Amino acid sequence: MKRAVIAGGRRVEYTLIQSNRANVLFQALPEAGIRVYAPKYLRLRDVDAMVRDRAEQLTHMQREVEQRLEDDRRAHPVTDGSPILIEGRRCALRLHAGPRRTGRLAGDEYHLTLPEPDSDAAVRAAIRSTLSAVALKRIRQRLEFYAPRVGAHFGRVTIREQKSRWGSCSRKGNLNFNWKLIMAPPEVLDYVVIHELCHLHEFNHSPRFWALVAAQMPEYEAWKKWLKVHAEDLYL
Ligand SMILES: [Zn+2]
Repeated sequence: MKRAVIAGGRRVEYTLIQSNRANVLFQALPEAGIRVYAPKYLRLRDVDAMVRDRAEQLTHMQREVEQRLEDDRRAHPVTDGSPILIEGRRCALRLHAGPRRTGRLAGDEYHLTLPEPDSDAAVRAAIRSTLSAVALKRIRQRLEFYAPRVGAHFGRVTIREQKSRWGSCSRKGNLNFNWKLIMAPPEVLDYVVIHELCHLHEFNHSPRFWALVAAQMPEYEAWKKWLKVHAEDLYL
């Protein structure tokens, strides 16, 4: 759940994750912002108050992780031969100069053509845009495969640079997916597709919801866990 508080004249946004835990945990993630894990019984305004009290510290934590990511990118520029994960496989990036941004997977190599192959930022942007297109195509295929099995009808499908989420669905049945899913093994992408489709029946994470997911993918917990453990590897 996305929330925001105003502290010291500034807006502080955070993602609230409620569970059966006993204490409150504050976390700052690169690109994903501030996360607050809180027990379910805690009232929202009490969580807001805790965030407000720690606003300065949390903003500082956030700035530090962003800086670390930035330093890491600078230390490891994406160049010809850099490793890149595609559908869970470690591929080598091959850069080519050309007028248009295109990407092509050939064996274990991802051939990327763009006007400025020497610019790290341009290369990252080209990876993002070409792989987003691949992700959308793949996700559509998997949605069409699973939707009749789940008995769900979905609306618009979009790929977004979602910072903290892999997928989401609206009450109207429109679905959003994170393009980085194309980096994960195909089973992980399937799991997220099934997860969102099942939300069209159960707009919650109740045992009934998980039973629907398990009916399509009995081993879903392994892939759910994979996503949690490897989320950091899917950064670009
Ligand atoms: Zn969900």
